[in-house]
Amino acid sequence: MKKLVCLILSLMLLCGASAFAEALPAEGLFTPGTYEAEAQGLLSTIKVQITVTESEITNVFIDASGETATLGGAAASILADEILTAQTPNVDIMSGATVSSNAIIAAATEALEAAGADIAALDANRRDTGDENAVKEEKTIDTEIVIIGAGGAGMTAAIMAQQAGKDFVILEKMPYVGGNTTKATGGMNAAETHYQKEQGIEDSKALFAADTMQGGHALNDPQLVAMLANSSSDAIDWLDSIGAELPKISFSGGASVNRIHAPADGSGVGNYLVDRFSAKLDELGVEVMLNTTATELLVDAEGKICGVKAEGADALYTFNCKAVVLATGGFGANLDMIAEYRPDLQGTVTTNAPGATGDGILMAKALGADLVDIEQIQLHPTVEQTTSMLITESVRGDGAILVNQQGLRFTNELLTRDAVSAAELAQEGQYAYILFDQNLRDHLKAIEKYVKAELTVQADTIEGLAEQLGIDPATLAKTLADWNEIVKNQRDPDFGRTTGMNADLTTPPYYAIKIAPGIHHTMGGVKINTAAEVINTEGKVIPGLFAAGEVTGGVHGGNRLGGNAVADIVIFGRIAALSAIEYVK
Ligand code: ADP
Repeated sequence: MKKLVCLILSLMLLCGASAFAEALPAEGLFTPGTYEAEAQGLLSTIKVQITVTESEITNVFIDASGETATLGGAAASILADEILTAQTPNVDIMSGATVSSNAIIAAATEALEAAGADIAALDANRRDTGDENAVKEEKTIDTEIVIIGAGGAGMTAAIMAQQAGKDFVILEKMPYVGGNTTKATGGMNAAETHYQKEQGIEDSKALFAADTMQGGHALNDPQLVAMLANSSSDAIDWLDSIGAELPKISFSGGASVNRIHAPADGSGVGNYLVDRFSAKLDELGVEVMLNTTATELLVDAEGKICGVKAEGADALYTFNCKAVVLATGGFGANLDMIAEYRPDLQGTVTTNAPGATGDGILMAKALGADLVDIEQIQLHPTVEQTTSMLITESVRGDGAILVNQQGLRFTNELLTRDAVSAAELAQEGQYAYILFDQNLRDHLKAIEKYVKAELTVQADTIEGLAEQLGIDPATLAKTLADWNEIVKNQRDPDFGRTTGMNADLTTPPYYAIKIAPGIHHTMGGVKINTAAEVINTEGKVIPGLFAAGEVTGGVHGGNRLGGNAVADIVIFGRIAALSAIEYVK
């Protein structure tokens, strides 16, 4: 769908017919004007508006405001700049925003074709987008603390450091903030919170710790787990204080009580927190140094942290500092590290953000940091395989079931992630369908995203749904009827499910999404103590080095419970910041 915005008519009025003739592409590259085109992105229609003169693209405006703020939004401004510089729509897609990038390129191509451009000719004359061999300027910056990574843990630490009046920088290697944190969909586990009390939910820090240990197969470091549980309600209060309230409490796999705290409107917790953290950093006047990759940690003769080396788009930096907070996330997007530590998982899709390449683990290891549970990698059981989009646990928590290609349930859908993933991998084809109804869709905002992204198959009857999925209709109808009976009786004799059974699945239309396991979280990482100090292989603290979030190991043990990643980044992000602040005093 294209629309000529500034019609050539206006040009004829201004310049006369001959000028119009001269402006035709036969003489120039474009017919001057402003042209618009649209294409479907991941969640929304992306609009591209391009202004051209006879010989040049002079302006590119992309409206991707309906895409996720962190990825789609970033892709819009980055690709607009690149198209303008390269003078062709065929620029590199942005990793982590493939669907949005492709839509932008498609719409830009259409707009330029409407302007009469020969796209192959534009490609052939592509303008230089910069000299990769150009010598970068060397810059030295003195500061007290360097925070590496602007995901949830790094941004939490940055807010704390700024509130404490510290001199610091925060580096982010991607052109946008948020990291894997944006992918968190469920919520944050916390016990004895004021929200739980207000909603009459009885919980205790000890029970939270016990559930986390049990969920992690008791591989976790009990002291880190106790710290997590004991600091959790304070962390909820802190989130309140910066305008990031998580009042909606529900059930999540592996928890004894309703403990997972989510945004009031049911939106994904990761994007919600990243938006709130970004807004707070803006308000506090903190600028994240984007496109700046930390490459090395520097220590003095005594082994104390004294600096960080980093590479930006135009400069090579040496930061002289007293402390570093490593908040670089996990290594779920580093296929070499996955192959090294878990050869059996080679080829598995990953839900991870492209920046999750384990840099912090490698930099700390180079200083002698100890690594714990590094081979513990969590699969998420409900990942749509063509987009790597994660289908939030809340869908099952709110009542969805899993069926195999035979139309049969095969597990308690709310067992821990590793157990449900293993059950799926035991099915023919190693996949399953997650099945729900309109009532569930009406109550869970996250589902709109899946529908918009066209991941759902839907039908007015369960038999109709079965036909579309190639499942025997009678079998699927019986499975659903049996399930509704289970909900009515609150007893699941086959698989012992006891939660997420508040509503039956009887409201058409019915929906299904084909899913399979995907790499989701790397539980292992750098060893820390309860003060978030990094420990070396001799069991000693590396002075000045602190770490928080997915870069660390020990909190989750052999399996991370849903809701504990966000708890980890906020709680240990705060602890790492406080320790670093105290250390540089
Ligand atoms: P966490 O949940 O622990 O906060 P995230 O994955 O959300 O982890 O965030 C980690 C962030 O760190 C990501 O935005 C990632 O791009 C960034 N990052 C990773 N390695 C580096 C590096 N070497 N330099 C700067 N930023 C990095």
